[in-house]
Amino acid sequence: MPDRYAVVGHPVTHSRSPWIHACFARATGEDIEYQSIDAPPDGLERTLDAFRAAGGRGVNVTLPFKEAACRYATELSARARSAQAANTLSFEGARIRADNTDGAGLLRDLTVNLGRAVASQHVLLLGAGGAARGVLAPLLEAGPARLVIANRTLAKALALVAGCPGAGRGVRPEALGYEALSGESFDLVINATSAGLTGAALALPASVFRREALAYDMVYGRATAFLALARAAGIAAHDGLGMLVEQAAESFYLWRGVRPDTAAVLAALRAH
Ligand code: NAP
Repeated sequence: MPDRYAVVGHPVTHSRSPWIHACFARATGEDIEYQSIDAPPDGLERTLDAFRAAGGRGVNVTLPFKEAACRYATELSARARSAQAANTLSFEGARIRADNTDGAGLLRDLTVNLGRAVASQHVLLLGAGGAARGVLAPLLEAGPARLVIANRTLAKALALVAGCPGAGRGVRPEALGYEALSGESFDLVINATSAGLTGAALALPASVFRREALAYDMVYGRATAFLALARAAGIAAHDGLGMLVEQAAESFYLWRGVRPDTAAVLAALRAH
């Protein structure tokens, strides 16, 4: 009997996680089965209870359940605690361990797949929702020279900064509204907003991109206005497909103790 895993979200039919984990399992020889489960918005707990009762070993959790997944867990990793959100749960008897692999996935895509350092760079993080919370501490640990969080609702960026002490070389994140970004420029601009999902453009001046900057949109599979703005400014621009594959690989490693190779999976997804 293969060990059972799943991605739980609402909606979840669009999720590529079952395909990605099937590729990892084939490549590593791990005997797992990975399905997708659409949980009702108020039904995460009973959905997970049923999956565990049926022998489930772990789940990835996606929108809108990442915060609720932390509340369901009996133990939080430091990454889940600082993000106050979890995308990976591991089940072992009565123990339910929550972790957040989004930050590790982003860092690995940036530094390994795209060959860009975060250390000593001036970094702009757009958004202050769950995705921004998940990557903030890992970004700080990578030692940027400066890290600014800009959000449409400034109060949320201020709260995120207030709850996050400096890490790495001790840089403290700063919070700004979009209107305060003219006159500021960055080496790395990471879009952790969901604006790209609705086709909305961010009120972002092209001058935020330094000449050799990299623009990174966590949204994938869409030609977003953010990526178009960066490309029009002559800046290297990448979507979040690599982060998706890398955060999945980190979850697979947590569950199975084996780190799958991601290059072939990412290339196949891109080709698709
Ligand atoms: P969330 O908690 O709902 O937060 C959404 C964020 O986007 C908020 O900061 C919100 O600003 C901002 N926003 C939304 N529409 C905007 C607009 N028109 N203009 C300016 N700001 C806008 O969502 P999330 O969980 O952080 O996810 C954000 C995105 O990251 C999603 O698209 C998700 O698919 C993507 N993501 C990708 C990966 C990956 O592996 N590639 C992993 C995690 C997340 P306000 O606070 O002002 O509302």
